[in-house]
Amino acid sequence: MAAETLAPAAPAAAEVAAWARSTGLPCDLPGDPGHERRRWVYNRLHDMSPSAIVAPRDAADVRQLLLRAHDAGLPLTVRGGGHHVAGYGTSDGGVVVDLRAMRRVRPSADGREVAVGGGARLRDVDAALCPRGLVVPTGTVSDTGIGGLALGGGIGWLVGLRGLTCDNIVGAEVVLPSGAIVHAGEPEHADLLWALRGGGGGFGVVTEFRFRAAPLPPCTVGTLTLPLRAAAAALRRLLAFLDEDCPRALTVAPLLRRDAAGEPILAVDFCAAGADDAVDRLVAAVRPERRAIERRSDYRVWQRSSDALFAEPLRGYWKAAYKPELGDRDVEAIVASMEAAPPGSPSILVEHLHGAFHDTGRDDAAFPLRDAAFGVLFSARWADAEDDAAAISWARSGVAAVDPEGASGSYANYAPHDDRRVARDFDRRPAVRERLRRVKAACDPHDVLARHHRSGGATHA
Ligand SMILES: Cc1cc2nc3c(=O)[nH]c(=O)nc-3n(C[C@H](O)[C@H](O)[C@H](O)COP(=O)(O)OP(=O)(O)OC[C@H]3O[C@@H](n4cnc5c(N)ncnc54)[C@H](O)[C@@H]3O)c2cc1C
Repeated sequence: MAAETLAPAAPAAAEVAAWARSTGLPCDLPGDPGHERRRWVYNRLHDMSPSAIVAPRDAADVRQLLLRAHDAGLPLTVRGGGHHVAGYGTSDGGVVVDLRAMRRVRPSADGREVAVGGGARLRDVDAALCPRGLVVPTGTVSDTGIGGLALGGGIGWLVGLRGLTCDNIVGAEVVLPSGAIVHAGEPEHADLLWALRGGGGGFGVVTEFRFRAAPLPPCTVGTLTLPLRAAAAALRRLLAFLDEDCPRALTVAPLLRRDAAGEPILAVDFCAAGADDAVDRLVAAVRPERRAIERRSDYRVWQRSSDALFAEPLRGYWKAAYKPELGDRDVEAIVASMEAAPPGSPSILVEHLHGAFHDTGRDDAAFPLRDAAFGVLFSARWADAEDDAAAISWARSGVAAVDPEGASGSYANYAPHDDRRVARDFDRRPAVRERLRRVKAACDPHDVLARHHRSGGATHA
């Protein structure tokens, strides 16, 4: 949609904008020069036009914004990094609470905890921590928002050593739709803290997270590459290695994608955070044709190594299957799916959920996939709208091929808007479903924050 075809600001949105501007907050309305750029989120498939995009500076601004949008009868959407593939960081006609001005990262004096603004990107967290020899486990593309990532789980290079990002949330400042500012670490908000650990958004606006920080170990990182024709055998050997011999400190992420020449390849990316000896065993298992290994690498550089592959602007449809194990049939399905991949830059990522990922008890966090050991993510990314149908159908078929019974878990952070399995994941255990329902009823009884990780086909808000 071109900027000049956008409707003029609705009177209700104009009121909110007048307040925002009177207090010096950046605010874009339809027709404003900045609106066309800011209305887009990462995934260009979601072409929406909010009635206003406002960027608060702190919890007090967020509180005022929520109350004013509510009085004006406008729906609300929270935007962290704007990366959710389902487009939950924007909406048609609603007010976007854009947290882009809230990116401060403040490690505590003793280095054990870190306060992170609700709109920080992963690279902000690494920039503040790594030079001090500290780390919080996050994800693998540095422009992703910590807000959505942490609330949905957070799988990255340190998942085996330190668990999910959400496992490391020790507290949070949250502005509820009522305007109340609460602290999720306090005993009276223990259930809210549990829900924020992987239960998704939709409870309130997290203006600041507090994470447990850990010492950053020396890292050996790299990529082992094979042509697609050798991928099935290599994946089988790799899965055997992961089952028998993978230390917590080593996280391996095989990625099937096209190389710069357009040839399909298997690229086994890995990060050994203090487990150098395991790298040689990994290489022996994979038997790569090419290898690029960096001993004692700069972790921050590795954290950015996938950025180019996922650079905007792209249309995207992602769909994943999380399972307790992967077998030969899965390997065959994955390789066949890469052979049939559509135009653009599609990829298939296998995630290994191990070590510290399983240290958090099933009841200690709302994250629903604790029984999984592997995730397989079919990520279709393409440029032209005319390829929409083929790309979307490819990702869906990939999941159907590795999960013919339809029993696998989804992952709230990767799920497209129409994936009803997200709701099923949360509903599977009655105690989780009931606890989430109670937290939602206490925090956002009127479902003011309706667009979030659990929105796709949810049976509860
Ligand atoms: C290129 C790319 C790479 C990715 N890599 C990884 C990865 O390595 N590991 C992984 O686990 N995931 C990964 N993801 C998935 C990512 O974690 C999710 O898409 C995540 O939800 C993005 O967070 P965001 O803040 O950028 O998203 P947004 O679209 O801004 O937000 C999504 C939803 O999160 C909620 N939300 C966000 N911030 C807040 C806040 N401060 N307070 C309250 N609610 C909030 C809102 O409900 C919002 O609707 C990746 C996604 C992309 C596009």
